[in-house]
Amino acid sequence: MEKRIKTLYIVTIIAIIAFLGMQAYWLYGRYEFSLMEYERGLCERIMRCVEEYNDIRDNTSESKTDFSGNKRDDEVSVPTFSLSQQYGDTVKTTRTARIMTYRYSAHELLGLKPGTPLTDEQRKRVIDIVQGRTDNPVDSAVYDASGAKDENEAWIASKNVQLERKCQFTAEGIDSVLAKSGITAAISLAESDSTVWEVRQDYNPSLFRPSVSLTIPYSQLQGRTATIACRVNPFDVIPGMWLTLIITLLVSCLLIACLVLQFSTVLKLSRIDRLRNSFVTTMIHELKRPISTLKMCVSGLDNERMMTDKAVKTELLTETRNALDNLAAYFSKLRDITFNDVEQIPLNIRSVNLHELFDSVAAAIIRPSGKEVTITNDIKPDLLVSADASHLYNIMVNLVENAMKYSGQEVRISAGASEKDGFVKLKINDDGNGIPAADLKHIFRRFYRGKASAGDQPGMGLGLAYVKLLVDAHGGDIYVESSEGIGTCFTITLPQ
Ligand code: ADP
Repeated sequence: MEKRIKTLYIVTIIAIIAFLGMQAYWLYGRYEFSLMEYERGLCERIMRCVEEYNDIRDNTSESKTDFSGNKRDDEVSVPTFSLSQQYGDTVKTTRTARIMTYRYSAHELLGLKPGTPLTDEQRKRVIDIVQGRTDNPVDSAVYDASGAKDENEAWIASKNVQLERKCQFTAEGIDSVLAKSGITAAISLAESDSTVWEVRQDYNPSLFRPSVSLTIPYSQLQGRTATIACRVNPFDVIPGMWLTLIITLLVSCLLIACLVLQFSTVLKLSRIDRLRNSFVTTMIHELKRPISTLKMCVSGLDNERMMTDKAVKTELLTETRNALDNLAAYFSKLRDITFNDVEQIPLNIRSVNLHELFDSVAAAIIRPSGKEVTITNDIKPDLLVSADASHLYNIMVNLVENAMKYSGQEVRISAGASEKDGFVKLKINDDGNGIPAADLKHIFRRFYRGKASAGDQPGMGLGLAYVKLLVDAHGGDIYVESSEGIGTCFTITLPQ
C-alpha cells in the first residue's frame, strides 16, 4: 500500500507539472498569436499615420516651396513623369522614371494678381497648362525604376520624389503625427543607392520585450527609407486574452484541486486503515490486562485453600471488582468516543465537590510499579461545580494517567482550581516529559499519539479526545500548555 501511495504521489505530481506545462505552453501560443494580431494592428496604425503625414506634406507646402527648397510665393514647380521600358536581348525589361521640373508663375499663367491664394481647381489647371507646353525644364532627373512591379508603382514612386522635393520627410514630422495617435516610436531615416520598394515589417514576439519595426520607403527612387521601431507593452496585449486567461485559470485550479483531493482522500483512507490496524492491536493489548487479572482471580476463587483465608478472599474479590470496573470504564470510553455529537452524551448534572473528587481519583489510581508518583491536591476543599461526577472523574483519571505514563522515574502531579465569573478553572499539572510543540495542536484528535512519547507506552490516542468530548458536553473548554522536558498543564474551564 505504501509503495502504491508513493507511486500515486509521484504520478500525481508529474501529472500536475505536465498539465501546468501544457497550459503554460498553450497560453504562450495564445499570447504569441494575440501579440502578432496586436503588432499587425500597430503596423496598420503606423501606415495610416505615414499616409496622413504624406497628405500634410502634400497640402501644406504646395506652391510655397520649390524643388530647391526656396520659398517662392508666386511660383510653382510642376514635374512631369516619363516611364520608358527598354528591352534587352531577352525579355528583361528596364524601366526608368524621368522627372522634369518646370517653373512657372502660377499666378501669371492663370492671369491672377501675385499673392492671391490658389484653389485646388486652379492648381490642377496650372499643371494642365504646363503639361501642354514644350519649354526646357529647370531640372531633369532620371531614376532606375526597374524594381517597380508595374508602371503604376513607378508612377507613385515618381510622385513621392516630387513630394519629397516639395516638403521633406522628417523624423520630427512623422513623430508628431504618430504622437497624436498615441504611438511612441524611435524613428531613423536612411538613404541608400539602391531603390527600396516594399514596406518591411519585422515582428519580435519576445515574451517580455516584444517590439515591432517598420521600414517604409517614403521616396523609393531616391532610396530613402524611414525606420519606425515601437516597443510593445505586454500588458497592452493581455486585455485581449482575459477570457482565455480566466477560463484556463479556472480549469487548471479545478483539475489540480481534483488531483489533490483525490490524493489526499487516498492518504486519508490509508491513514484510517493504519489507525484501524493499530486500534485493533492496542485494543487487544489493553483488554489483555484486565482479562488476565480476572483469569487469575477466578483460578484463586476455585482454590479451596485460598477461599478459606478471609483476607486473601477479600483481596481476590477486590481485584476482580477492579478488573471488571476497568473493563466497564474501558467500554464506556469506547462507546462515548464513537459519539460524534456531544449532545448524544448522557449527562447527570449535579453539584460536585472538586477537592473530594480529585482525592478519590488520587486514591484509586494504580501507580505504575517502579515509579515514584507524588499527587498533590491543591483544590479548595469547598469548591463546587455543576457536572456529571462520573464524567468528571474519568476526565481527571485520564489526565493523571497520562501524566504518569509520559514521565520519567519520578513525577509530581498537582491539581488546582479557581473560580471566576461563574466558571471554574481546573488545572492539572505535571513535571513529566512535556509535549513537543509540533504535537500540541493535534493531541485532542482521535487516535493521535505523540510521536516522541507514545512509542513505548500503551494507548490508542483516544484519551484526550475523550476528555475533550466530555468537557465539550459540559459546555466547557480545555487547553494545554507544555514545554518539553519541563512538564505539562491542562486547564479545563467548566460553567459553575
Ligand atoms: P494515548 O495516551 O493513548 O496516546 P491520549 O489522547 O491520552 O492518547 O494522548 C495523546 C498524546 O498526547 C499522547 O500520545 C502523548 O504524546 C501526549 N500526552 C498526553 N498527555 C501528556 C502528558 N501529560 N505529558 C506528555 N505528553 C502527553
